[in-house]
Amino acid sequence: MIVWPCRLDVSTYAASGRDVGAPAVRCPACGGPTGPWSGYQRHLRADALVRVFVPRVRCRDCGRTDALLPWFVTPHRYDTVDVIGAALELSVIGLGVRRIAAALERPETTVRDWCRRFGRVAAGLARILLAAAVERGWSGFDLPTAPRPRAAAAVAALASAWIRRHGPVGSWRVAALVTGGTLLAPNTGSPLASAAAAPVMAGTPTTGGDPWQPTPPKPSPSGDTT
Ligand SMILES: [Zn+2]
Repeated sequence: MIVWPCRLDVSTYAASGRDVGAPAVRCPACGGPTGPWSGYQRHLRADALVRVFVPRVRCRDCGRTDALLPWFVTPHRYDTVDVIGAALELSVIGLGVRRIAAALERPETTVRDWCRRFGRVAAGLARILLAAAVERGWSGFDLPTAPRPRAAAAVAALASAWIRRHGPVGSWRVAALVTGGTLLAPNTGSPLASAAAAPVMAGTPTTGGDPWQPTPPKPSPSGDTT
């Protein structure tokens, strides 16, 4: 799985079919060149439920395959990272699951699952995102100390650093990019250990500094879990 900063909005991406303009990437395992390797359709729920194409690439050297996920897609979840992020922000300011679900027109069980997940990863997430924000020139202070508010503040801090250099974007997309898609995916394993281990902090080390290149993915040996 490789997350990339897609410039298209969700509806334009969906309407593009297979022609989504995914970038050329290096193999995350061996650094070798990759080539197109089919892909798959999946559903994505933003304002409406749409079908999107997720291209795959295969390494010409080692044969590993990876899905190329645009940064608004969260692995194994229907909803965009924007919607999930909005729910989490509401929970951080004190709204209960029922009210969040009503506000966003999503099932309560789904919202509850997002919130639980966020609670589990918040502390580690805050640490990773703040490090990335600092690396991108953010300098802030007076952050909350409780894990969930701190993580939400970290998302905003990182986004502000990104936006200052590259223009407006949904803040949770930047967080998804930096964490290589592990941010809110419902994996049962250690979601952030892999993100912390991968060179994802700047999102740039393997690409010569171009922020619009994909984030180096988590070093998952199985690779194609999306
Ligand atoms: Zn390879």
